[in-house]
Amino acid sequence: MSRRKIVRYVFLIFLLLILFACARETEKENKMLISSAQIENTISSVAKLYPEVSIARIQKGVKQVAQFWQAEDGTAEAFQNFCKAHFIADPQIRQQTFVRLEAAFEQIFGHASELSRELKWHLDVDTGEILPIDYLLGEYSPGAHTIDDLFKTKIAFVILLNFPAHTLEERLQNGPNWSREDWAQDRMLKILPARIPAAVQQKLGQAYLAADNYISEYNILLDKVLTDDDHCLFPDGLKLILHWGLRDEIKSQYANPDGLSRQQMIALIMERIIRQDIPKVVINNPKVFWKPGVNEVISAEGNINVSNEPEATIRYEKLLDIFQATQLADQYYPNAPTLIQRKFESDREIPEEKVKALFTTLLTSPVIQEVAQIIQKRLGRPLEPFDIWYDGFKSRGTIPPEELDKIVSKKYPSVAAFQEDLPQILSDLGFCSITVAFLAEKIQVDPSRGAGHAMEGGRRSDKAHLRTRIPASGMQYKGFNIAIHELGHNVEQVFSLNKVDHYFLRGVPNNAFTEAFAFTFQAKDLDLLGIKQTDSAAEIYQVLDQLWSLYEISGVSLVDMAVWHWLYEHPHANAEELKAAVVKIAIDTWNQYYAPVFGKNDSPLLAIYSHMIAYGLYLPDYAIGHIIDFQLKQYLENKNMAVEMERMCRLGALTPDEWMKLAVGESISVTPLLETARLAVEKVK
Ligand SMILES: [Zn+2]
Repeated sequence: MSRRKIVRYVFLIFLLLILFACARETEKENKMLISSAQIENTISSVAKLYPEVSIARIQKGVKQVAQFWQAEDGTAEAFQNFCKAHFIADPQIRQQTFVRLEAAFEQIFGHASELSRELKWHLDVDTGEILPIDYLLGEYSPGAHTIDDLFKTKIAFVILLNFPAHTLEERLQNGPNWSREDWAQDRMLKILPARIPAAVQQKLGQAYLAADNYISEYNILLDKVLTDDDHCLFPDGLKLILHWGLRDEIKSQYANPDGLSRQQMIALIMERIIRQDIPKVVINNPKVFWKPGVNEVISAEGNINVSNEPEATIRYEKLLDIFQATQLADQYYPNAPTLIQRKFESDREIPEEKVKALFTTLLTSPVIQEVAQIIQKRLGRPLEPFDIWYDGFKSRGTIPPEELDKIVSKKYPSVAAFQEDLPQILSDLGFCSITVAFLAEKIQVDPSRGAGHAMEGGRRSDKAHLRTRIPASGMQYKGFNIAIHELGHNVEQVFSLNKVDHYFLRGVPNNAFTEAFAFTFQAKDLDLLGIKQTDSAAEIYQVLDQLWSLYEISGVSLVDMAVWHWLYEHPHANAEELKAAVVKIAIDTWNQYYAPVFGKNDSPLLAIYSHMIAYGLYLPDYAIGHIIDFQLKQYLENKNMAVEMERMCRLGALTPDEWMKLAVGESISVTPLLETARLAVEKVK
């Protein structure tokens, strides 16, 4: 799955959760229904029943229940009675209860995901014509009310009363001494981060949806963009989406000998979008021409009296709406009352200071300066700010694409042929015969409508699904390349569900980890076709390419982080003030980390990413992903990938740092990449 697709996929799931999870009718502004006196009273009455139990455990449990208890759950008396009745003093019963819960959740989550896959079957799998009913079935969400039901049935409260939730600090400090079961119990509590009233959920969902709609319809028609002297630099019909399309066009123009003027034009357009002096009328509009240089709009008939009224603040209004809805939800997260905390402490489980330190170490490394000099030499001109997207290190393959297509289509004329060959592919990747048989049995290949996707199984008796598109003329090389990437995801999914000792520990710490495995598989695609390629120069340039990409996305991430801090520090700001702040933050970040390398000050380009507007502090995931990806791939080099991968996947969803230490023997760090890049720079010189 491409990065962008993953973002949108994750985002959609997130939206569904927001829109439907615990969708209750009544919105109550009560933060805590149970008073502290009632909590204390309950603690002492439970303690009286179980004098042998540590008071700390009782206090923790009762307080956790109180944090989530609402009027619909019962009176304060009912609260106290519940705590007395359901507190589990006997350690053995408590342990058995956990085992029961773990088995039950495998069924609840597993069946919901299986059912959801079946309901979306005809939308996702190429079964012929899609019928109108398929869209409605696809919208049916079997897991939508799970959290709500867990509270209604009081299962959630039993968990909260008897098992402690931990802060990230506690996990990092005590985690290394925890048993596997301690870890699994910690993960169980993560199912219940908050209980948000339906009306607040809805506001949050609407704000995200509005922002997503805004960015996904924000197109620039480059064939309608003119230079100051009326030239169009772009081919007819070139319509590109912000920021992905515009950025990728800058990238692809490096292969074009006269791409510079196009790149400069796109960078200018990006600046106008960031500063919001882009005329409102030119967005997604084929009926007008636009001269970004002088910022004039001309009608198709040549009339220049078209208003160039600026977009002004709409971009930042979307972000502000998300922030305001987020603030409404904040109070319902007892352990992480800001989005910044939720993102770093709950989701990523890496402290923000550590993430920031990783980025700044990289941004200020002397190696960056050296790579910049290499780029400048290759370009034969001084660097421009948009060269943060320099794309000239990538190697172009030596075998013509048509030839590769011929080899692949002959080998895989159908989906069945690919499924049949799975054991051979896995064996060629180094898996032993027992593991090959196990994996091949657990991965089902489906003909996909989309380009490719790896769908995990939800419980151990289910299968993972590899979705791949094979045209009637047989599989194409590009499709094969994607399918091998997806197979990497599937193998990870099967191992980390079926070979992990606890259901609550299934999976890997986050997306970056599964992507690293997928890219490792993907890089072996030509080997699998029996085509040997040894190009050591390509490997050297690939390292430089990775470093330069990380350099770019680290700065973009720092801007995203600083903007959210600014929002929380200015909770009553308006869109105009937010715009000024974003531009200032982007320029300050540029001047600190990029101007010394580029020799140019005051570029706001780091603020162009759409994620910053619509995905709520998502961007650091990319940068962290690149760092982990490199460490993992480097560790796997010259090792038995198959054996190592299984060993790593069996670790399950620990914190990223704990996982890394056990998997590759060191914490998350940019040092391996910087060291390798330094050697690469020397070789290039
Ligand atoms: Zn992927």
